[in-house]
Parts: sequence; C-alpha cells; structure tokens
Amino acid sequence: MTKYTAVKGMNDCLPPETRKWQALEQLARDTFASYGYSEIRTPIVEKTALFTRSVGETTSIVEKEMYSFVDQGDEALTLRPEGTAPVVRSYIESGMANQHPNAKLYYMGPMFRRERPQKGRYRQFHQIGVEIFGTAAPAADAEMIAMVWDLLDHQLHLPDLALEINSIGCAGCRPEFLRTLETYLASRAEKLCTDCQRRMKKNPMRVLDCKNEKCRELLQDAPSIHEFWCEGCQSHFTEVQAMLKLLHVPYIVNHRIVRGLDYYMRTAFEVITTRLGAQSAVVAGGRYDGLVRQLGGPDVPGVGFAIGEERLMLLLEDAGTLSVKEEQHVCFALLGEAARKALLPVIRELRHHGVSVQWDYEDRSLKAQMKHADKLGAKWVVIVGDEELANKVVQVKTLATGDQETMSIDKLVTYFSEKCS
Ligand code: ATP
Ligand code: MG
Repeated sequence: MTKYTAVKGMNDCLPPETRKWQALEQLARDTFASYGYSEIRTPIVEKTALFTRSVGETTSIVEKEMYSFVDQGDEALTLRPEGTAPVVRSYIESGMANQHPNAKLYYMGPMFRRERPQKGRYRQFHQIGVEIFGTAAPAADAEMIAMVWDLLDHQLHLPDLALEINSIGCAGCRPEFLRTLETYLASRAEKLCTDCQRRMKKNPMRVLDCKNEKCRELLQDAPSIHEFWCEGCQSHFTEVQAMLKLLHVPYIVNHRIVRGLDYYMRTAFEVITTRLGAQSAVVAGGRYDGLVRQLGGPDVPGVGFAIGEERLMLLLEDAGTLSVKEEQHVCFALLGEAARKALLPVIRELRHHGVSVQWDYEDRSLKAQMKHADKLGAKWVVIVGDEELANKVVQVKTLATGDQETMSIDKLVTYFSEKCS
C-alpha cells in the first residue's frame, strides 16, 4: 500500500498543539485591536506577476523559492510567499487606497517558500503581519515597532530577544550608496560566494544580507548606508529613535540590516533571537513608501512587519511563557437509553452556556466510560443510571480528588456554568 506523507517542509498542526497556536493568535488579535488595527484576509493564491513586480526579480524569493504553476486557464499563479504584496493589491483593488487611504490592517496565515527545511525554516510557514497605510510619519514606524515589542516582551515575556533597527535610505540617497558598494564589492568579487557574485551586479545591497561566514568577514569594512543618508532619511531615523526611547523600547542600531524584499525604504527593523541558530529573525519589517504606487495605486506611503509564527512558537516552547487557558471538560456517563433521553437535552443546554461536554456514543460500561473520561482529561464525570433517574439526580465526580456528590438534574446548568466561566 502507498503511504501518504505530507509534503516535505510542510507540517500538520495537531491537538493539543493547535490550542497554543489559537492562544498566540488571539493574543496578537487583542494586541493589534488595542492599537486600532482591523483584520484583512486575502487569497492564498495570487497572480505570479504581483510578486515578481513587488518582491523583486532578483530576490531569492522570486529567483528560486516560489511555488508557481500555470492553471487550466493558462494563468500564471503563485502560492503567496509573503503577505504585504497581496494586502497592497487588495488595498488598491477594493478602492480603499483612494477612498480611505489611512488604514491599519493585520493578517495571519500560511506562506509558501521552497527553501531548505530545517528547524525554524519550512516550506509552508505562518506569518502574523501588520501594515499601516497613509502616513509617512516616523511616529507610525515607532509605534508599530513598540507594538510588536509589547507583544513579545510585555505579553509573552520572551528572553534573549534584541530589536535591531536601521534606515536603508530612499530613492534620493540610496543610489550613491549602491554605486560605492558596487565598487567595493567588485574589488573583492572573486572572494565572495557564488550567490553574492551574482547578486552583486543585480542587487548589491542584498550581499550585505548573506549568511555565509566568509562573505560576512569580507564585508566588515564595506561602505555603510548611514554615511549616505539624505537629510530626510537622517531626520526620519532620528525621530523614530526618539519615539522608541519615549516608549521605553530598547533597540540597537545595526547599519547592516537590509531587507530581502525590494520594496523597502527608510526604516528597516528585525527582532532577532540567539536561540534559533541561523533562523535568528523572528520579526522583520520596514517602510515601503513606493510600493502602493508601484502596484498601480495612488502615491500612499506604508510601513509594516511580519512575525514568523513557527519561530515564535519554538521560542515560546523553550521559555514556557505562553499561557493557554486550561480546558475544563465534563464527561457524562449515560448508562442506558432512558438516561440518554433525559440528559441529552441538558447536555445541549450546558453547551449553549459554553460548557464543554462529551459523552460516550458507544454506550459502554461505567468502568470503560470512566477510563475514557480520564483519558480525555475530563475534570468531572456526571454519572446517570436508572437509580439516579428515578430520583431526578446525578452523581458528579471530580476526578482529581475522587469526591462525589449527588446533585439534582435541575442544578446542573447553574453548577457547571459557574464552574466553567
Ligand atoms: P530569513 O532571513 O530567516 O530567511 P526573511 O528575511 O526571508 O528571513 P521575511 O521575508 O522578512 O524573512 O519574513 C518575515 C519573517 O517570517 C522572518 O523574520 C521569519 O521569522 C519568518 N520566515 C521567513 N521565512 C520563513 C520560513 N521559510 N520558515 C519559517 N519562518 C520564516
Ligand atoms: Mg528568507
């Protein structure tokens, strides 16, 4: 028989693990809502051209990582490798860009990149991301960074994280930097890795992002973007920092931060960890003022970030700081047809009151049902046999203590809705 396995680098998420993901996502939703963001949901498949145009032809994503295919109607489509381009596409297409350009949006969901799978790097992974459209103000960058720091540090209590920020310049000042960098790289070309030799001509800034140790060493005294900032970029970055200080967000300035996607300008930032080896970036973000126009919309500025959910989950696993509300189940041991008839309506009512209830479909013995309840992690078992029915009562057993009490059927809903609220 053929054994079916999941696609390499794409993982199932099973219970009870799913509860942790739900808890994390709920926390993110609540945090974003408290800062005035609304959720946007876009399709997982987009036209390939959207990504080649925005992410950039010479980025590793577009060069070699996209899951692209031609559908039955000869349309070139791609499983989204990232969330910003689809959000921008939707922001323009829906008319939001023209009618309500000031928007704070968040999204969460799977992304697809055909990379070499390893711990913290998968082919289907999940991102939680946010975007602010309609303001070029440094305050937007700073508050957004403060929000993600709030989530990771204040809410999730994660240790060993560092926030690194940079400004990668703008269309005004970056070309001069790139020219100088190109000259620098050209004189060392033969010592760079083959990837960098290729990137160096098409997209020299990306060489700074190379993970190869030898390249990193070679680049130690490469020209730095901050020597080239125009006045606008300089003052934008100064204001971002001033506001981060005001908000008590600790940060490190790292002029080597660039972004792997072409559409970024000015603020670039990452939250990195020392705990995941080469998969050190947990959050990456930055400003992309030209992107909306580049994708056919009005000239609206934007800034955003994306959290890698798997990496965050690995860190949370390690730190043990994600609090998942303990599930409180009640198991009903309904012994016989009459007990089912009498209690199934009560069970329904309990569920309407938000109580989690299970009962045995197989109608097994009391002993088997008790064992099953234990396995399910039930907190209580409600036992109902003929004798109880005759007296309109049930036995409520608390599994942890073994305590058992007789309770009138009428009291069940009040009793458990209070216990489980
Ligand atoms: P890296 O340098 O680790 O490849 P990146 O620069 O490609 O990251 P972005 O495109 O900026 O990452 O995506 C934002 C975040 O999404 C990353 O910081 C990371 O946490 C997460 N991420 C990116 N690619 C993957 C992947 N293949 N598997 C799991 N998480 C990922
Ligand atoms: Mg990458």
